[in-house]
Amino acid sequence: MNFPVNTQTLTQLSYLAAAALFILGLKRMSSPVTAVSGVRWAGVGMLLATIVTLAFMGASSLNLMLVIAAIAIGGILAWVSGKRVAMTDMPQMIALYNGMGGGAAAAIAAVELYGGNEHSPTHLTIAVIGGFIGAVSFSGSLIAFAKLQGLITKSVRFGGQRFLNLAILLITLALGFMVVSGMHAGLPAVSLFFVFALSLGIAMTLPIGGADMPVVISLYNALTGLAVGFEGFVLDNAAMIIAGTVVGAAGTLLTQLMAKAMNRSLSNVLFSNFGESSAAGGTSVTGTQKAIEASDAGVMMAYSQKIIIVPGYGLAVAQAQHKVWELAQLLIDHGVKVRFAIHPVAGRMPGHMNVLLAEAGVPYDLISDIDEINAEFETADVALIIGANDVVNPDARTNANSPIYGMPILSADKAKNVIVIKRGQGQGFSGIDNALFGLDQTRMLYGDAQAAVSQLIQAVKAAG
Ligand code: NDP
Repeated sequence: MNFPVNTQTLTQLSYLAAAALFILGLKRMSSPVTAVSGVRWAGVGMLLATIVTLAFMGASSLNLMLVIAAIAIGGILAWVSGKRVAMTDMPQMIALYNGMGGGAAAAIAAVELYGGNEHSPTHLTIAVIGGFIGAVSFSGSLIAFAKLQGLITKSVRFGGQRFLNLAILLITLALGFMVVSGMHAGLPAVSLFFVFALSLGIAMTLPIGGADMPVVISLYNALTGLAVGFEGFVLDNAAMIIAGTVVGAAGTLLTQLMAKAMNRSLSNVLFSNFGESSAAGGTSVTGTQKAIEASDAGVMMAYSQKIIIVPGYGLAVAQAQHKVWELAQLLIDHGVKVRFAIHPVAGRMPGHMNVLLAEAGVPYDLISDIDEINAEFETADVALIIGANDVVNPDARTNANSPIYGMPILSADKAKNVIVIKRGQGQGFSGIDNALFGLDQTRMLYGDAQAAVSQLIQAVKAAG
């Protein structure tokens, strides 16, 4: 094909435009108001980069057909699964997509390393580093997916596990060095390098459990971005370098934020046994749970001055956000001061509760994060907990034996009265009992969140 302008220049300019779209899209994703358009901007950037690469890469028609077939199959699978997935299953979906990105980066490295072409040591080093990170991210993300999907229910732990993981890491690095330095750089060394890198991802992720999954998912997200960036250098593809770096940087910041929200260092997440079951960690639960009728809870709330609503994962399951906003508006009309308190890891993905409340139309000035609101619980007449559990467990603050000790929590236990909506005695994500539910001032309103909030609406209306 003959192009009137230099295709090289056109490709680079298109990649620059795609990069600008990625960055602007990411910027727009930082607010729920502009997030949807941000996703579209980034999508257009990706489409542009893909079309330009396909048009100018000079591939044989067979290769082009294979690439288009792969894009079609992948695109249809992603479209259908993306449409079908429930909001509450998003983390495992993200884990799976992360894994695919890491796997793709590792596959590029594999093509380079198996290809047998003469490459400079620098080129090989970059391919090996990207392949290593991509392979770890691929297998680790698949394990994270299996855990979140409930396919793997136990965290596999045994004595000497850290030494085994260290040994796998050292062997992988040694194999990578052999490949780069040309010593035994044949196919067996390359294959073993990938086998050990994949094993490392599995071995690292199997012992991690409980409330640590958000940090792990975002760590693999960052690693995938990094791997793609490295392989961008291997292929000399500016779009991949920029997109990979942006994902790597965003993922690293998110990992830091999530780790901070859990009050834990990354090494602590990766190498300790946080989030074990209560049997292992001990609990301070003493009192028994006391039920309350919706009619009584409604009266209590109608005559309150200040109510803080704490949404959690159960609100997302029940899709109760619209009803909750209806209840809040009713209370505000009654002269009650209503605030929403959001914990950074409430729900099953970063920003989960913010997205749900925004969807229901809750104004942003009624929503506060943990640092802003925690001091206010003491002055609240009622803390209304809707489908939240781990994020309001006072053991995290008071019980040094608890597996979640040290994680910042919303101080709902400081409110004068606490009403907890949940279906029964079920535990939260980290599988431990909650000391809040047995406190003197706590009452349990059992039921599905949407149904229970509807009953509260009727009760508040009846209270006049
Ligand atoms: P939890 O998972 O701790 O608890 C949710 C509670 O909701 C359960 O105890 C359950 O009790 C109740 N529930 C479930 N369905 C319903 C329903 N239909 N109606 C009413 N209640 C319901 O939620 P939190 O939001 O407090 O904490 C989030 C946890 O998830 C943290 O441990 C966090 O680390 C983890 N996590 C967070 C991610 C993130 O990025 N935000 C990602 C992955 C994990 P019952 O069965 O009795 O109804």
